[in-house]
Amino acid sequence: MDDDQLLRYSRHILLPEIGVEGQEAILSARVLIVGAGGLGSPAAMYLAAAGVGTVVLCDDDTVDLTNLQRQILHTAEAVGRLKVESGRDTLLRLNPQARIETLALRLQGSALDEQVAAADLVLDCCDNFATRHAINRACVRFRKPLVSGAAIRFDGQVSVFDLRRDDSPCYHCLFPEGQDVEEVRCAVMGVFAPLTGIIGTTQAAEALKLLVGCGTSLDGRLLLLDGLAMEWRTVLLGRDPACEVCGGRED
Ligand SMILES: [Zn+2]
Repeated sequence: MDDDQLLRYSRHILLPEIGVEGQEAILSARVLIVGAGGLGSPAAMYLAAAGVGTVVLCDDDTVDLTNLQRQILHTAEAVGRLKVESGRDTLLRLNPQARIETLALRLQGSALDEQVAAADLVLDCCDNFATRHAINRACVRFRKPLVSGAAIRFDGQVSVFDLRRDDSPCYHCLFPEGQDVEEVRCAVMGVFAPLTGIIGTTQAAEALKLLVGCGTSLDGRLLLLDGLAMEWRTVLLGRDPACEVCGGRED
C-alpha cells in the first residue's frame, strides 16, 4: 500500500480484525455484483469505498425516474443512461483508485460462467428468480461464495452461501427452482427505499468479512427483516442432500 492508501484505509487498518493484511486482501479482490439497482447501489458503493480492487458491475437496464427513490448509485442527471455507466461514474467519484468493470448485459450462459470463475466472490443483487438460480448454479460449479439479498415492500432477506465449504447449503436448497414461488417485483409491488439500503449494506458487510476472513459469516443462516416492525428473524439453513444443484458436488 502507498501512503495515500494507508491514509484512505486507515480506519480499517486500525481494526485488529482487518489490519494491513485484511485491507490488502480487500485491495486484491475481484467482486462480481449482479444488479446495479436498489441492492447493488449501496453494496457497490461500500465495496468501492472500502477498496475492493476490482468491482465488476453487471446490469442491462437504464436509469429510470422511478429508480431514483432508492437506487442511490444514480442521480437525476443519469436518467436514460445505462445503469452500469452511471454506477461506474459514481463509484470512481467515491474512490478514483477502484477498478470498475462494466457489463451492460443480462449475465447468463458462458459469460456468467466466465465472470463467476474469475471472481473471488459474487453478490446477487438482482430482482428475478431465473437470474438468481443461474448465478447460484455458477457459484456451486466454481465454488465461489455467494452473498444473496432480496427486498420487496417492507420485507428483506439476506444470506451467504459459502460454496467453498462442503457443508454449505446453496440457494436452490432453500428455494428449489420450479416451485411455484410467486415472483414479486418492485415495479408492481413497491419497495420501502431504505430497506434496499439496509439489505444491500448487509451484503457489503458480509462480502468484506468473507474477503478478509474475519468474524462469522451468514453461511447457514437466513436473516429476514420485517421493516415495518423493524424486527430481524434468523432461520437456520441446512444443506439439502437431495438438492439437484449442489447434491454430490464434493464428488
Ligand atoms: Zn443446493
